[in-house]
Amino acid sequence: MTKETAETHQLVLLPGDGIGPEVIAATETVMRTARDCLRLEGIALSWERHQIGGAAIDAAGGPLPPETLSAAQGASGVLLGAVGGPKWDALAPQERPEAGLLAIRRALSVYANLRPATLLPGLESHSPLRAVQGLDLLLVRELTGGLYFGEPRERSGEGASRRAVDTMVYHEGEIRRVAHVAFRAARRRRGKVTSVDKRNVLECSRLWREVVEEVSQEYPDVELEHQLVDSMAMLLVLQPQAFDVVLAENMFGDILSDELGGVVGSLGVMASASIGDEGPGLYEPIHGSAPNIAGKDLANPLGAILSFAMLAEHSLDLPWVARAVEAAVKDVLSQGVRTKDIAQGTPGEKIVGTREMGERVARALAQSLHTRQALNETYF
Ligand code: NAD
Repeated sequence: MTKETAETHQLVLLPGDGIGPEVIAATETVMRTARDCLRLEGIALSWERHQIGGAAIDAAGGPLPPETLSAAQGASGVLLGAVGGPKWDALAPQERPEAGLLAIRRALSVYANLRPATLLPGLESHSPLRAVQGLDLLLVRELTGGLYFGEPRERSGEGASRRAVDTMVYHEGEIRRVAHVAFRAARRRRGKVTSVDKRNVLECSRLWREVVEEVSQEYPDVELEHQLVDSMAMLLVLQPQAFDVVLAENMFGDILSDELGGVVGSLGVMASASIGDEGPGLYEPIHGSAPNIAGKDLANPLGAILSFAMLAEHSLDLPWVARAVEAAVKDVLSQGVRTKDIAQGTPGEKIVGTREMGERVARALAQSLHTRQALNETYF
């Protein structure tokens, strides 16, 4: 019997370009299952689609139309596919699809970017580091400060005297708030934060370390260590299992997260959450719009599906839904079901397309949620 509706969540989906619409459609299949089960619990979940990126340029003349932004600002959470593609490559930087992504991150004030790196069952041999077992770390990247946003930023001179300037600026408050995100996450995990900086060279890094040390005083139960970014790049390859939560400023986090994508060995399965203090979080798979496989039902939707799991946890406060979606993904993978990018040609493997992968995860999710309801027990 359906309970009276006690909670209502409205989401915004931004499919974007290339494989974005395909992975979002597969995720919607999983979301429909979650929605039907949640309704029985008295929780209403609904969503609407809006345009961003190249699709928005074509339809509305800009990469982030005002109606997309206002819908996103009024939502409980925002799930984005990917933006960009060769069609829009000749546009000026501020007019390109990627400008829409930077603008929505800034407008939603999502300053902390969470990127879990986990080796999923059956995908261990996909990592180039065959010896890696049990990798499970969370990278927390500062997303709205540092070198990517600092002023001045300029080009001058001509010929042999061309000159370029970028500026790295951090204010104490920007470091403090993202450090709290990392320490809180470590409390829910294995209780360790590794803060990354370049204190031997950069003034910003010296401030970074000072402020992170201060914040750590409020979390005596969490262990804090510091690593210089260059040695961290090496350690992530040598012993990624040694880390729990890794905290980094914007550019260092950008570089280390792609390195982790390589360590995990499959871009298509990696999810991310960008969160701030209030308002909706922005959730997206870390891959791009993959124009080389767009429209062919080849894209792996697991990164997008796992991003929905992060949305359920961080924006809807439904961690049991997140755990159930993650369990459904693991269940499907352990049955040997693979999209082409993660296929290994081993016996018993079943290669499926984007759509079927979404349907299989949805079925596995339905089974586990219905079992939960049948048992009427509290999940996890
Ligand atoms: P990409 O992530 O789109 O693709 C890199 C490689 O990984 C390609 O071979 C692609 O086929 C493969 N791949 C990516 N996602 C996959 C998936 N889900 N399943 C299977 N294979 C997958 O990176 P790129 O080629 O450097 O960029 C293509 C476009 O995407 C560019 O326009 C770029 O600006 C844009 N981009 C957007 C975002 C974003 O929206 N957040 C991020 C990165 C790149």
